[in-house]
Amino acid sequence: MIDSHCHLADEQFAADLDAVVARARGAGVDGALCILDASNEEEAGRADGVAQAWPDVAFAVGVHPHQAGATGDLAGGVDGVASFVRRAVEARAGACAIGEIGLDYHYDYAPRETQVEVFRRQIALARELERPLVIHTREADDDTVDALRSEGGGDVQGVFHCFAGDAALARRALDLGFHVSFSGIVTFRNATAIREAAAIVPADRLLAETDSPYLSPVPYRGRRNEPARVVQVIDALAEVRGATRGEIADATRRSYDVLFAARSVDARGATVV
Ligand SMILES: [Zn+2]
Ligand SMILES: [Zn+2]
Repeated sequence: MIDSHCHLADEQFAADLDAVVARARGAGVDGALCILDASNEEEAGRADGVAQAWPDVAFAVGVHPHQAGATGDLAGGVDGVASFVRRAVEARAGACAIGEIGLDYHYDYAPRETQVEVFRRQIALARELERPLVIHTREADDDTVDALRSEGGGDVQGVFHCFAGDAALARRALDLGFHVSFSGIVTFRNATAIREAAAIVPADRLLAETDSPYLSPVPYRGRRNEPARVVQVIDALAEVRGATRGEIADATRRSYDVLFAARSVDARGATVV
C-alpha cells in the first residue's frame, strides 16, 4: 500500500520517526509521498532524516496557500515564487511533484488575490518542469478549476488531495485529467457526500492518503495520524466501492506509480525517468 500524502518531516514525527516508519512497513505500507513546505527550512532539514529512515519515500515541494502571504519575505514577492520553488525542488533529491499548492478560502490566511497569483505561478512552473501537482483546495472550487484550466492548459496533471468536495467537484477534477485522493475523512460519520464522490472516481484515478500527522481516521480520530493508517482509508474506500482491500490497494498503487513514481530527480536536479 502507498500513502500518497503525508507530512513525515513535520516536527511531530521528529522524536519517533523510526518507530513510525516501522509501523507503516509492518502494516504493509511500502511507500509514501512526503509533502514539504518550500518556506520551511527546519522541515527541509528533517526531510534528510526522512529520506534516510525510509528510502521509498518521494517528495513534493511547494508553497501552501496558507503561506502565500509570506512570499514577500521568502521569495522577494509573488514574482519570485516560481524561482524560489524551483530552487527548493532542485535542492531536494527525489522531489517528483510540486505541492501542496492551491487555494484555501476557508481559513483565508492570505488574501485571495495573493493565493490565486501564487498558485498560478506554481502551476506554470509545474508545466515548465513537467511535474505533477498536489492540489489543496477548500471552499474555492471555481477559482481552483479556473486556474488549472487557464494556467495548466491541459498539459499539467496531478491530484486533488484530501478530497472534501462532492461528486460534482470530483467530476470537474476528473474532467481536467486529475486524480482524486481520499483521506481519513472518508471514515467520518458525517462524510456522506465525500463517500458519494469516492464511489464515482474510476479506479485508475483513485489515490489514498493519510495527510498525517492530521486527520486520523476512525477509530483513531483526534490522535496524531501516521502512514500506517492509510490501511483504514483503503478499507473505507473498499467498503464504499464494493471492492476488497487488495483491489483498492492495487488500484491506488498503480495510480501513484503513474502519477509520481515514474518521475524522480537526481541530486543535480535532472529528471530521471
Ligand atoms: Zn492540504
Ligand atoms: Zn497536506
